[in-house]
Amino acid sequence: MATVFEMIINGEIPSTRLYEDDEVLVILDINPVEKGHSLVISKTAYPDFTDCPADRLGHMMEIAQKVDLKLRSTLGCDGTNILINNGPAAGQEIPHLHIHVIPRYKDDGQSFGFGKKKYDEGEIAQYGARLAL
Ligand code: AMP
Repeated sequence: MATVFEMIINGEIPSTRLYEDDEVLVILDINPVEKGHSLVISKTAYPDFTDCPADRLGHMMEIAQKVDLKLRSTLGCDGTNILINNGPAAGQEIPHLHIHVIPRYKDDGQSFGFGKKKYDEGEIAQYGARLAL
């Protein structure tokens, strides 16, 4: 079944478009964390980050950087969160690869809901050895 982003790319449902090329479409998120919250959407419907070829990810990040610069220069935001929810366990609702670019302001009261964990004695070295690329 087509995702909402495929329907947006195909023009079947409306969106506020900021940029488009052969590989990506940039739109405004309909429920922004902050106004101007943008989505850089792959036109190819890769379900998630893990499935996407690296060169396509590279292009998406280039465009996300342009969005970041535009948000800073036009809205005057102090920073941005650039994030990909990669899979349902990580909060991805729409299984069609997209990058969020969220304007942030000093003292805007927003926060991520992440709690922080601690490694047991010696455990960080074990994780380091297991995860070294
Ligand atoms: P994710 O949880 O990473 O899959 O994010 C999906 C995002 O798509 C959410 O932030 C939604 O607010 C946004 N969204 C859902 N439907 C639309 C739509 N029709 N137009 C624009 N953004 C949408």
